[in-house]
Amino acid sequence: MIVAVSKGQPAAAIAAAYAAGHRRFGENYLQEALDKIEALSDLDIEWHFIGRIQSNKTRPIAEHFAWVHTLDRSRIAQRLDAQRPEALERLNVLIQVNLEGETQKGGVSPSEIVPLAQAVASLPRLRLRGLMTIPPAEMSEAGLREHFLAVAALGDRLRQEGCDVDTLSMGMSGDFETAVQCGSSCVRIGTAIFGPRERG
Ligand SMILES: *Cc1c(COP(=O)(O)O)cnc(C)c1O
Repeated sequence: MIVAVSKGQPAAAIAAAYAAGHRRFGENYLQEALDKIEALSDLDIEWHFIGRIQSNKTRPIAEHFAWVHTLDRSRIAQRLDAQRPEALERLNVLIQVNLEGETQKGGVSPSEIVPLAQAVASLPRLRLRGLMTIPPAEMSEAGLREHFLAVAALGDRLRQEGCDVDTLSMGMSGDFETAVQCGSSCVRIGTAIFGPRERG
């Protein structure tokens, strides 16, 4: 699937992409996202949260999004589960992987994936779907390939552990072709769809 990443784009740009056939949109900044969700509430959009999750801001995410790509703590999972409205389908969740241990970035190390996945699987209002990654900036083509293949292998490992996962969220405007070759099933594309953005 293609998630059109609309951070830094006005609601009118989202409406234009919707008219061109896009239905899934990704946002990083909660307040900006909520304003657009409100403005576009008459459109049948599937919203994806792809930014850092602050633990005191989980409720609007649980109430307004269909997917979260950036889970990295069981405490956040518990809050999203408790706050997911009964009237909505289960919230689809991806665990963000931080393979290189970059401290400025969210995500869990490989050894933390299985325990977090098991914690998510035990929560009734969440549905664990797989893994998400943002590779380090300035990686070579070979490095990117190695990175994406390692994340795909971690997805296989989750399945071996009995987790029913089907999604790898890998690839952005600059690297989606490599990501897809390495097994991505979900690309998050911003500038290649919308052109340059004002912030983010
Ligand atoms: C901004 C962003 C994207 C899209 O990036 P582009 O290079 O504009 O395609 C994808 N994923 C995440 C997590 C982002 O923050």
